[in-house]
Amino acid sequence: MATAASQSVIAFHGIGHPGRELEPGESRYWITRERFLRFLDLVATAPDPGRVHLTFDDCNESDFTIAMPALQARGLAGSFFIITSRLDRPGSLSTPQLQALASAMEVGSHGINHLDWRRLDAQQLDGELVGSKQVLESCIGRAVTAASFPFGRYDPRVLSAVRRAGYARVYSTDGGRSRPTDNVVHRTNVRAETSLQNFVDLMQGRETWSLCVARKLKAVRR
Ligand SMILES: [Zn+2]
Repeated sequence: MATAASQSVIAFHGIGHPGRELEPGESRYWITRERFLRFLDLVATAPDPGRVHLTFDDCNESDFTIAMPALQARGLAGSFFIITSRLDRPGSLSTPQLQALASAMEVGSHGINHLDWRRLDAQQLDGELVGSKQVLESCIGRAVTAASFPFGRYDPRVLSAVRRAGYARVYSTDGGRSRPTDNVVHRTNVRAETSLQNFVDLMQGRETWSLCVARKLKAVRR
């Protein structure tokens, strides 16, 4: 039986200048527009762009104003994970922007409130998972079956709640490679300091030494 080819799955956050106050430590995940466009050029000119899956977390307005047109100009697509309480707030996607995004791209849930799902009780956790799914589905008019963990954090209880809420796939930031058929898809975060060479390594499934150590330490702690 043929198995799906492995992919490098990359997580972007904000691009350009934030239009809202950032959370503590968040600025390290924002990159410049120029750098982002260079990264996309690398993907678009790769021998097999389909082996790279680009994703975007946090519902930033740059998803629509920068990422979507730049992806479309290069014939690329992406998956966008939305924090539903941020919709229509300054610096975040508006409802019409989300609907336009959804017409061409995959949309998934990143929760209602951007909370660490491990720290919620069962009722709060189900509320985040089911509530955000319902808001997104009524907004975009189709089923939402993918989610990404806020801050990349999860445990076995979170995983079973995600499944119970009706999500088929959920995205971590554990690094390494994944297959499109995995239930937990491992992504690697792009950060402010990610260089063009780092990005090429990510696309080709090579981890830098520091990323590899960080991933293994995280796995040991879990
Ligand atoms: Zn997030």
